[in-house]
Amino acid sequence: MAPSSAPLVRFAPSPTGYLHLGNARPALLNVLFARARGGRFLLRLDDTDRERSTEAFAAAIEEDLAWLGIVPDARARQSERVATYDEAADRLRAKGRLYACYETQEELERRRKRQLGRGLPPIYDRAALSLGDADRAALEAQGRRPHWRFKLDHRTVEWDDLVRGQSHVDCASLSDPVLIREDGSYLYTLPSVVDDAGMGITHVIRGEDHVTNTGVQVQIFEALGAPVPVFAHHNLLTTADGEGLSKRLGHLSLRSLREAGYEPAAVRSLAVLTGSAEAIRAVAGLDELAALVDLARTSRAPARFDPHELDGLNARLLHAMPVEEAAARLSAMGVPDEAAAAFWEAVRANLGKVAEAADWWRVVAGPVAPVIADAAIVAAASETLPPEPWGPETWKSWSAAVRERTGAKGKALFMPLRLALTGLDHGPDLAGLLPLIGRERAARRLAGEAA
Ligand code: GLU
Repeated sequence: MAPSSAPLVRFAPSPTGYLHLGNARPALLNVLFARARGGRFLLRLDDTDRERSTEAFAAAIEEDLAWLGIVPDARARQSERVATYDEAADRLRAKGRLYACYETQEELERRRKRQLGRGLPPIYDRAALSLGDADRAALEAQGRRPHWRFKLDHRTVEWDDLVRGQSHVDCASLSDPVLIREDGSYLYTLPSVVDDAGMGITHVIRGEDHVTNTGVQVQIFEALGAPVPVFAHHNLLTTADGEGLSKRLGHLSLRSLREAGYEPAAVRSLAVLTGSAEAIRAVAGLDELAALVDLARTSRAPARFDPHELDGLNARLLHAMPVEEAAARLSAMGVPDEAAAAFWEAVRANLGKVAEAADWWRVVAGPVAPVIADAAIVAAASETLPPEPWGPETWKSWSAAVRERTGAKGKALFMPLRLALTGLDHGPDLAGLLPLIGRERAARRLAGEAA
């Protein structure tokens, strides 16, 4: 049963690589779940794998989450909590639920092959359970060190999954999982339970690749006498051809998306809404996104996504983005603060990425090499150039005057003016650009001067 108090959720990445779009999904689903319910979000680094975990990846995770707009309410690191895991392991040992095994990888592999050859499921045969003290001492005398397995109850574990509904794992069909390696280090399974229990995690929201773990972990919660949290296993993001995203390949890493100039809101929208009950659309704010997410209505099919969809989402976000949000970046491009609002209004509908605004600022500020495609129209434009001040209506009245004088209209009128004023045959509405270009530069460009 879901506790009635505010939820506490966690995102628990291993700092062994950069976060990618597929990791953004559980991170955001947890954050949004907590946000919609006045709950809290914990970032827990699953860094018990000392060989593959690095400080650089830990820092990158914080940075990438911050870019997504995620600031954890609390933080924890498993590497600092080993004493707690040792204590839990002792309790499991005392209950006969954690037992020492001495098989080598090769021995286990041989056994597996034999089982498969006989048409049996390749499940660990619990041979180590029948070792006596003398057997263990003899093995240790040979230099062998134990790894430790959790003794599963051979029964079916059931839970009411927030995404998948009534779910179950038949633990009789699983090998007793190794919780502690030969070198004494912990695999993910036990520390995760000890922390979820010790930290009071109310809801475990994670990918459906963990469904089998949940069967095992529920038994560990129970063996430790801890309350079992509510589980939600969301579908995984896959590429359009059904391929999973691999953290180690850096495929669609959040930092590469950031470097490519995507807005965090576009990435958030795609990571969360793909495979949800909602149409994929550009959602600017976290609260708005939180209101759309309903784990119970998330599809159970793999969430196939198309990275090209990011381009459309990004463009749609920019088209509605208030200048305040772009201001710092516009300023860094050299757009003066007093021109930022008018400039942004003039160009945002033409942008795929904010960085492209720099190209349009160069068109405004110059120098631009004008293209004089129709000398008569350009001459008429020079002669009718109105006095300043210029505003949003200037283009309309001025181009009307040129039309009257030359008889040209439509594209025949506008294209030569655009080419002369901007040097380009495409671009944002000239009504918005013209007041920014200003009379002096416009006059020089119409005269064929680079200005
Ligand atoms: N470190 C695990 C992972 O990244 C955490 C899984 C979980 O949420 O329990 O897959």
